[in-house]
Amino acid sequence: MDYSQIRKTYTEELTRFFQGGPYPQRASADLRFGLDCQRNRVTKYGLTMQKKFEKDGAENEKSYEHVQYPYTYTLTKNHCDYETDFYKNGAMVGRSDITEETLYTGILNKQTQGQETYTCKNCGHTDLLSKFTSGCPMCGTTYEMPQVYPCISGYYTRPSLISKKLYKGMMKGGFWYFGLLGAILGLLAGLSIAEEQGYGLGGSIAMSLFMIGFFGGGLLLFSFIVMHLMLGPALAAKKVSQVSHEVQDSQATAATKARMEADLKRYDENFSYEYFEEKVLSLFRGIAFSENRSSLTIYDNADPLSYMDNIVDVEYRGTLEYVGSSVVENVLRISVKAYVVCAYYDNASGTVSFKKQVFHLILAKKVKKEDYGFTIHAVNCKKCAGSFDAIHVSTCPYCGSHYSLIEDNWVVNQITCVETAPHY
Ligand SMILES: [Zn+2]
Ligand SMILES: [Zn+2]
Repeated sequence: MDYSQIRKTYTEELTRFFQGGPYPQRASADLRFGLDCQRNRVTKYGLTMQKKFEKDGAENEKSYEHVQYPYTYTLTKNHCDYETDFYKNGAMVGRSDITEETLYTGILNKQTQGQETYTCKNCGHTDLLSKFTSGCPMCGTTYEMPQVYPCISGYYTRPSLISKKLYKGMMKGGFWYFGLLGAILGLLAGLSIAEEQGYGLGGSIAMSLFMIGFFGGGLLLFSFIVMHLMLGPALAAKKVSQVSHEVQDSQATAATKARMEADLKRYDENFSYEYFEEKVLSLFRGIAFSENRSSLTIYDNADPLSYMDNIVDVEYRGTLEYVGSSVVENVLRISVKAYVVCAYYDNASGTVSFKKQVFHLILAKKVKKEDYGFTIHAVNCKKCAGSFDAIHVSTCPYCGSHYSLIEDNWVVNQITCVETAPHY
């Protein structure tokens, strides 16, 4: 299957969506729901959000692939010039200082979908799945239809490893520094020579200018050589680790990935860290942007998390920290910390502010293989096999039996904000 169309267009589609355009064409039902919730939240406060992804490459390049027949999960990435602005009544009320990111997009494909058949739960008519897109062709019954593949399962951004802007900034900064130093040294030298020689005002100025040219030019030449050969890369590397901790972040990510996979492959030999990471972020967004958290089936906790009602955007800072996991009565629980920047709308001032935060999440699921075809918007009743949207419902609308999401997919047991100003 050729994903290249998705890889070429998704970045622009996402930019357009955040400017009020349609959903990205191949967005999965779960992703559409998440995007919709965020847009509703932003609109609720009378805000407009402009999010721009201007990618570097022609298409989103493949960075990871995980096959669990019949599904293939592909992660693609593209380095982007990135911008997030909030407007209210035509005036800018918030701008994120994150300007360069790598956009990650998850693409799910199902090899067997072409020949897949579907049987109507009402009249028993069986036909190719593709014939059921607008309900049963025989009796007209409409169901929540299964997902059409390939689809985009989720997306997130994370800091780019080496920031081009930062490096350029350092080179320019070094130039100014040496240039200014040359000017000061030249001025001092010029003035002292002029004084020693007993020059008048005109002579002093001329001598100072000459010395500034002499020192300034020499130092600029010197800085040019030093910055490019030695100091440039060294300072840039130092700056990268100081300012963004990007290098440490990527090491932390690698360590977390290794520990998590080693632990969790005991319960699911096909466990994929990358897919789980995307899942955590999409669940977090779903809960943060929900307007009806008490009935939300993906969140199983009495804490209403009302402070989240003012969150209008969530940026991932590239690290999921693995805390631990346990299995009790066949339920697997995974405890992780997510490093994010949340954009909060302030009712009093009408502005949006950005907070670095760390959230501790506990996720739970019955011990079994990950079901890549699962969508909460079309679950199947275990008793009557009826299909329905379970995001706010835990009772089958056809037969009335209880539906337990944890049997099929991840449920968030707990979310706590553990640090409000973390050191990244
Ligand atoms: Zn039918
Ligand atoms: Zn049922």
